[in-house]
Amino acid sequence: MVIAVASGKGGTGKTTVAVSLAMAAADLSSEKPMLLDCDVEEPNSGLFLDIDYSSGRDTGVLVPEVDLDKCTYCGRCAEVCVWNAIAVAGDKVLVFRDLCHGCGSCGLVCPENAIGEITHVTGRIEGGTDGSINFARGILNIGQAMPVPVISSLLNEYLGSSTVIIDSSPGTSCPVVEAVSRSDYVILVTEPTPFGLHDLKAAVDVVVNQLKISAGVIINRDGIGNNDVEKYCQTANLPVLAKIPMDRRIAEMLSEGIPLLSGLPEYKKVFLDILAAVREEVMK
Ligand code: SF4
Ligand code: SF4
Repeated sequence: MVIAVASGKGGTGKTTVAVSLAMAAADLSSEKPMLLDCDVEEPNSGLFLDIDYSSGRDTGVLVPEVDLDKCTYCGRCAEVCVWNAIAVAGDKVLVFRDLCHGCGSCGLVCPENAIGEITHVTGRIEGGTDGSINFARGILNIGQAMPVPVISSLLNEYLGSSTVIIDSSPGTSCPVVEAVSRSDYVILVTEPTPFGLHDLKAAVDVVVNQLKISAGVIINRDGIGNNDVEKYCQTANLPVLAKIPMDRRIAEMLSEGIPLLSGLPEYKKVFLDILAAVREEVMK
């Protein structure tokens, strides 16, 4: 079972939920759950766990490498590239690696078979364990603009455990789609404010309407706003899996890197119940 944790908006408590789900799942089974931090621009789930990293490798995008001895400067490669990542100027072929999405189209259309591929390193994936939870994260190198290939590498390498929890990046753009698209269920974390509701609707549109993945909602910081989020969930037929109250103790603990379930163990039942509800939904 692969459960992704997402939120239309940053700062809603998505990482707190992901780490708590992994800790609760570790209590349920002798097989360690896998927590994957796919928020590769700011991977911080591991900060709440004492991870001993045992593996890691660079990853990136396969970009074209042109053999100028074969090239006739016909320009077909530049014509086919919708990203303008390759250009032919006189007797030069320029490759703009940071624009290249690694689609391979230029190599396919080259009539001289002059285009090979090399890896343009854009990030790193690494994995380890804290003893009860297996953990892996992707890290996008500073200055790089494309998180998706790093997320894709992370998922390709580390999906496979019976229970996987994915911490995705906030928002509704390509990195989120990549992170959640192989999931059985998505938990959307929001807060009961107009901003929270606005961004929740955007996330529901992507996850439920477009990707067709079942989803439920956790309302974090319950009590700070109004009940419009709950009304929306009823209308949209989205289960509210849990409401976590606004509690200053939680903020203080998290600021010190203490996971919610370690500092306030009474929340363990909340997350065990969420896992049971999600499992039931996935098994339907
Ligand atoms: S398509 Fe091939 S032969 Fe034509 S310009 Fe590009 S690399 Fe050279
Ligand atoms: S691999 Fe795709 S994105 Fe990259 S230069 Fe070739 S056509 Fe453009």
